[in-house]
This record gives sequence, structure tokens and C-alpha cells, in this order.
Amino acid sequence: MTDTTPQFPTGSVLGYPRIGPRRELKKAVEAFWAGRSSADEVEATAAELRRRTRTRLAELGLRTDVAAIPSAFSFYDHVLDATAVVGAVPARFADLVDERGELDLAGYSTVARGRGDDLPLEMTKWFDTNYHYLVPEIGPETEFRYASDRPVREFVEGLADGVTTRPVLVGPVTYLALAKPTADAPADFSPIDRLPDLLPVYADLLRDLAAAGAPWVQLDEPALVSDSIEVPTERLLAAVVEAYRALAGELERPQRPAILVAAPYGDLGAGLPVLAATAVEAIGIDLVKGAAPTEAVPGLETKTLVAGVIDGHNIWRADLDAKLAILEQLENLGAAAVAVGTSTSLFHVPHDTADEPNLDPTLRSWLAFADQKVGEVVTLAEGIVEGREAIHEALLEASDAVASRRGAAGVVRPEVRERAAGLTEDAFGRGDFEQRKAAQTTRLNLPPLPTTTIGSFPQTPEIRKARAAHAKGELTDAQYEDEMKAEIRRVVELQERIGLDVLVHGEPERNDMVQYFAENLDGFAVTENGWVQSYGSRCTRPSILWGDVSRPAPITVGWTTYTQSLSNKPVKGMLTGPVTILAWSFVRDDQPLGDTANQVALALRDEIVDLEAAGIAIIQVDEPALRELLPLRAQDHAAYLDWSVRSFRLATSGVRPDTQIHTHLCYSEFGQIMGAIDGLDADVTSIEAARSKMEIVEDIAAAGYPRAVGPGVYDIHSPRVPSVDEMTELLTGAVKAIAVDQLWVNPDCGLKTRRYEETTASLEHMLTATQAVRATL
Ligand code: GLN
Ligand code: ZN
Repeated sequence: MTDTTPQFPTGSVLGYPRIGPRRELKKAVEAFWAGRSSADEVEATAAELRRRTRTRLAELGLRTDVAAIPSAFSFYDHVLDATAVVGAVPARFADLVDERGELDLAGYSTVARGRGDDLPLEMTKWFDTNYHYLVPEIGPETEFRYASDRPVREFVEGLADGVTTRPVLVGPVTYLALAKPTADAPADFSPIDRLPDLLPVYADLLRDLAAAGAPWVQLDEPALVSDSIEVPTERLLAAVVEAYRALAGELERPQRPAILVAAPYGDLGAGLPVLAATAVEAIGIDLVKGAAPTEAVPGLETKTLVAGVIDGHNIWRADLDAKLAILEQLENLGAAAVAVGTSTSLFHVPHDTADEPNLDPTLRSWLAFADQKVGEVVTLAEGIVEGREAIHEALLEASDAVASRRGAAGVVRPEVRERAAGLTEDAFGRGDFEQRKAAQTTRLNLPPLPTTTIGSFPQTPEIRKARAAHAKGELTDAQYEDEMKAEIRRVVELQERIGLDVLVHGEPERNDMVQYFAENLDGFAVTENGWVQSYGSRCTRPSILWGDVSRPAPITVGWTTYTQSLSNKPVKGMLTGPVTILAWSFVRDDQPLGDTANQVALALRDEIVDLEAAGIAIIQVDEPALRELLPLRAQDHAAYLDWSVRSFRLATSGVRPDTQIHTHLCYSEFGQIMGAIDGLDADVTSIEAARSKMEIVEDIAAAGYPRAVGPGVYDIHSPRVPSVDEMTELLTGAVKAIAVDQLWVNPDCGLKTRRYEETTASLEHMLTATQAVRATL
């Protein structure tokens, strides 16, 4: 580090929630989309939110003078923001940019959400989180240009407010590594090939930031912690060398800000020495998911190591003593300085535990949301500057909270532990599939190509209103139950009229497929304001899995048997699987995930056995998140797939051979985790397939997969009603590829976000297509 390198703050966070403590941004942008407010009004709300964030972070103890406070706002998505800055707007939206190449808010929203036949940028999962980003489309012809100086303007806005922020951007390597090639790109083209053309744009932006007075910039490079992206590791590391030679080596200070490269979400591994050998001034590593290096790293002696010891992705209060010990050890690595940071941006956690007055106070004392985490960072920073003694009180308090949690009633329940410990191997398997198949065929007597849906039917405004009224106490339990039963009757009548073979109850009583179970199981708590961004303006409120899990009473049995009483056709019971319940909750971090998953599985097992005893012949256990929790590093896959698959089997193996178990998965990369899907041993698996024109039947056939599958015949993510011919063609192709008795007919996913209008028409077409194909058999 040269003398001119500005000081890096001893305490900082990689990012902060951007949706607002009461989802102010969501409300503002949705009002804009609906034409209820102007772009200027949304900009004003956004500026106010950014101001609030700066003020709040300063109050919590982050320094305002040395770039401790990140400037990481986004109207929709930070990867889309990078697309807007580098001018890489797809050709179909070229009419939306001005001369400079910049999108206004309306244009930006259109790229995110599409218009007519112009599809929006594809959305996909952001590393191992439940956040989704918009995938850049990069081809050989994509023209990069410095199209938007929004990051500079937001930096200047902070400065005017007396706060020197640290602009945060997706780094150039990650930006291209996450991009997909444009449709017309040659087969051997990879977006990362375009790095030399992209770097000058980043250099322009860095120059502009320096000119505006920014001492530091943060470039996020999480691609470096993942083996699951298209670009092979060697190529990625070579790109890092090239990128930071250009941006940090050839572009010298003070023409640019000092650069922090952050690598959140996992272990940086071989990326650390590579980054350390570049001319960047600071490196951020994730020390929650990743391991601390144990030996001195050449090159680090000129850099600040920003140690992500505070978990940005979960909500438990940290054991500050243990974290301080990690920080003290890092002193031996030979870095010029060690600073305290978060493992990831804090936008994966809610704002403030103080917004949860109704949460049990003991539970609340164990939690740290974003604001509490900033406090932890500030405390640890003080500890490394002033010494352990200076933060003695805070260390004790944190240790007390950790101890209180360890010993609290409900965290460890002997009866739950004993049951899990007493499990034998036969609790994890159902026996021979061929025998099950024969028993189920006899019992169910279904036509060839049985038709069904994935579970939910449209959640109408009336259903939402009834649920809200019930929550407020305006509807009694009995009144609410009556309304839901009326809805179930309508859904059953509709399915009978359309002619579906296996019916569902439609899930009207569920606010959310995970929270519904969390509310009905012991060991969970739910929040009131604990929203986190899932994509764009969409937020979810993850439940908190804090204690040993068990099922105090049957959950779905009443609804399901009521539904079955209305029809002679089989009604499919509908549950959410253990892995998905874990993936979409904040989960206790004091024991292996597999142990927690097995507790949830046992609770579900009881529910499934009760459904069977009540006469339900088909039970679906959804695992749409099975792929989502797959670790980023390939070396960790086997262990994950082992515990996740076993927990599903534990949940579903309590039933007789003639009870049919279904599962549903929400993604199309069947080939990628074929082994795991096989391991689930479900009798029937429905899976997203429509957008890839059911190509997965080829994978299924090639793998010799023996059990039944329901590849989705139409995409439910759009209101479009597919034609009979379209679906007939897909089904005709499928019966050629795999055995007829392996094939089910269903949409891609649940219908809860759709309206009845298109749902009814699409399902009618699906049935007509099925009958046409049956006639050819
Ligand atoms: N049964 C759920 C539904 O239909 C499944 C949803 C999902 O896979 N995300 O809504
Ligand atoms: Zn789905």
C-alpha cells in the first residue's frame, strides 16, 4: 500500500437492505408501474430512502468520512444496474435508450419486466440465496459504453449530505460470468470473451468516481466462490488477472478510487492468492461460509483484508468472542491491515429486530437483523483497534445471548432428539418401486397420461381479503373456514368440469407454502416486518426456525379430507418438503442442517401417515428448492445431496406401497442433479419443462429413469394461453421418447399467481391435447 492509499474503515458492511423498513421502495415502484405516480415521485422516494440509510448507518456507528457506508441502492436489481451502466441493453429494447445509451426509469422497468412479445431479461437465482437477478445478454456484437453515471450521482448525493460513501458495483468478471450469450451468438462464444471490451467502460466509471472525490469503490466478484457457473475456474482466474491489471494496475491512483474486491457467499479458495497478486487495495472474504487462510498470502502485505466475520445471510446474533478470535488470527497473515466486515451484503436479512415488538423477547434477544449486525461490526472494529478490554461488556453480552439460546426451553427437546436418534435405516426407504407401481395402478385405476395440476389455484383478491380479515380478527375461525371451503368447492367443481384426473384443493388457506407450515409447527416463529427482497419489488418474509421441530397437531388433514369428500376422483394431498422449508426460512445455525432437516421430515412424516390413514391415496411433497441449496463448491455437493435426499425419504417412507408419493421441482436442469432426483424415489415427479419445449424427456429417457414424470406442458409464469396444437405436439414428442405409463400431464408449476381467465382456458386446452394424444395410443 502506498502512502497515498486512503484509509479503509476498520468497520464496514458490504451492503444494506434497499427495499426500505416498510417496503417503501416496493410501494413506490409499483405505484409508478401502475401509472399512479410519476418517475420524479419515485426518484424522490428513492433519494429519501438512500438518505435514511446513510443517516441510520452513521447513527449505528459507521464512519461518515472514510467510505465505511456503502452506496448500494437499486430500483430493481443490481445486475440490471450494471447492465444499465455499461449500456448492454439487448437489441429488442434499443429504442428505450437515449443518445448516450442511458435508460430512464420507465425504460429500465421495461427491460426488467418485458413488454408484449419483447421478453424481459431472464431471471435466475443469485448464488445460494433466494434472491433473483436479471441475466445480462451478451453477444459478439454487444456494444459496451459508459451509458449511465448513476453510481457517481448517488455518491455525490451522499457527499452533499456530509457522507463519503463507497459505491458498490458488480465487478466486471462476475458480470460477464453470469451473463448468457445472445441467441444469435456462435456456439463457441462465451460472454467472458468480451472482457477486453468491457474493461474500458469500468475504467471510465472509476475515473469519474475519482473525479467526484470517491476514495474507495467496491467491486463484487462472487463468481470467484462458485464452481456452478459456466466459465471454468482457470478461465475465471485469468479474467481476474486481466481485469484488475487493467483497472488497478494500468489505471493508477489517483485517477481511480482505491478498489475493494469483495468475494461474498463462499470460500474464495484459489481466488485469494490471485487477487492478492493484483494491484487492488483491499480484498473482502467471506469467513462465515469460507475458511480463513492459515498461511501468509504473498501480495497481501500491501492490502487491507476485509474479514467478513458477521453473517450477512442469516439472522443469529454472533458470538463476538469467537469472531474476535478469528480476527486476531488473521493478523498473522501479513496483510497491511485487517478490517471487520460482513460475509455478504445485508440485503438478505430484514432491517431491525426492533420492528418485531410481538416476537417473544427471549427469541428476539438472540437475533441480529441488519441494524444489529452493523452494531456487531462496529463493536468488533473497536475491539481490534482498542483491544479486547475496550469491548469487554459487549463480548459478555453477546456470550450471554449465545448461552441463553443454547439452554432455552424448546431449543433442545429430548423427545424430538430421542426420536431422531432412534431411527433405523428402514425409516429412509419404501422398498421396491415395481411392487409399489403395481399396487398403485390397481388402487388408483387412472387413464393413460393422467392429468393433474401442481397444487395451487389462483389466489383471488377475495381469498387474500378473507385471510387479512381473519388475521385482524374481523372474521372468526369458523367464518374463515367457511369461506375457504366455499373456495375449495369452486376449485373442485372447476377441475371436475375440465376433466382433470387427479384433483387438488387449490391451497387457498396458504399465505405461502413455507410460512403456512412454519405457523403450524413447533420450533418456528414468524415475523411481522421481516421482509427481504426476492426479486424486483417482490419480497418474502422468511420464518425463523429456532428450536427443535415437531408437529403439535395435524395441519392439512382436515382440508384434504373435506376436498376428497366432494369428489370420486383421487384428491392429492399437498405438503412442502423439508429442504424447501429450510431453504426459505432463517434456520438455526447451531447444529448441522441435516439434523434440522430430519426433524422437519419427521413432522411431515406424521402428517403424511395421517393423510394416508384418512384415505388419501396420493400425497405430493414439493421440493422446489432442492437445487437452490446446492453448495457453490463442487466438493460440497455429495454431502449436501446425501442429507437433503435422505430427509425427503424420511418424510415420505412411512406409507404403504399403494400410496403414491409425488414431488414437484421448479427448475429444468434435470440432468444436473439427476442422481438426487433418482434418490428421492418419488413415484411421480413433476418438473418445469415448458420453456425448454420438454427437452428434458430426452434426458429422462437417456438416463433410463424408471419412475413416472410430469414434465410441465405449459409455462405458468406468463398469462399466455397455449394452444391445443402446441401442447399436442409436445405430448406427442414425449410419448415417443419415454414409456406411456411413465408420463403425466400437468402445467409447469402452481397457478396461484395467475388469474382464472387464463388458468381455465389453459387447462381446458391441456385436457383436449391429452385426449387427442390418448386417441393415438
Ligand atoms: N404446490 C405448490 C403450488 O402449487 C408448489 C409451488 C412451487 O413449486 N413453488 O403453488
Ligand atoms: Zn414449481
